[in-house]
Amino acid sequence: MRLVFMGPPGIGKGTYASAVSKKYGIPHISTGDIFREEIKKGSPLGLKVKEYVSRGELVPDDIVIEVVRRRLSREDCKKGFILDGYPRTLRQAEALDEITKIDLVLNFVAPDEIIIERVSGRIICSKCGAIYHEKWRPPRKPGVCDVCGGRVIKREDDRPEVVKHRLELYKRQFAPIIEYYRRKGLLVDVDASDTADVVIPRIIRLLESYGFKPPR
Ligand code: ADP
Ligand code: ZN
Repeated sequence: MRLVFMGPPGIGKGTYASAVSKKYGIPHISTGDIFREEIKKGSPLGLKVKEYVSRGELVPDDIVIEVVRRRLSREDCKKGFILDGYPRTLRQAEALDEITKIDLVLNFVAPDEIIIERVSGRIICSKCGAIYHEKWRPPRKPGVCDVCGGRVIKREDDRPEVVKHRLELYKRQFAPIIEYYRRKGLLVDVDASDTADVVIPRIIRLLESYGFKPPR
């Protein structure tokens, strides 16, 4: 089962990818995670991509494509994989077709207002990183982390206007890629406007309807 997960920032893609990865025993491959790890290690690749990642700019296609090619050739990808954060350009999508055959692209969708509400209500522990939501999952004591007692704050770039701007950028950047997969008949929209405990079973049912059964 070779899958690509796509969706705007804040839709919960990473959460869904880990859940499906666990359920099906296939690796969750996030190019963002790979780059962050290499930067932390200070590897030659890390040094090459550091500038781009720290500025939030796209890493050049040639580098990303090579990283993904090498990662997908590893033994643990034999039974399948979930790609998250790749492709981000048409060239990356075309290169992926040369590397392997993708079975399905899950395109997570939700109305903008829901994503904005979700992300802009997000508050996070400044010490341990635990995530809360002002309305849906506030800490027991206002402003204080349940886990570590640290101060719970709102991140500057989770403000509604900023989230909205990110969504616009996403749409502009991904429209051609979504179109590319739609034309190939590989794209399925997945309604992600509910909570993860509803969306995850929905994804599993969808995959089963395509004949992908989880191992028992
Ligand atoms: P974000 O949603 O903040 O971009 P990611 O974890 O997806 O977070 O990616 C972090 C950074 O890694 C990106 O800002 C970019 O610099 C780089 N990156 C990740 N995936 C790609 C890709 N497919 N093409 C180009 N750059 C990428
Ligand atoms: Zn904490």
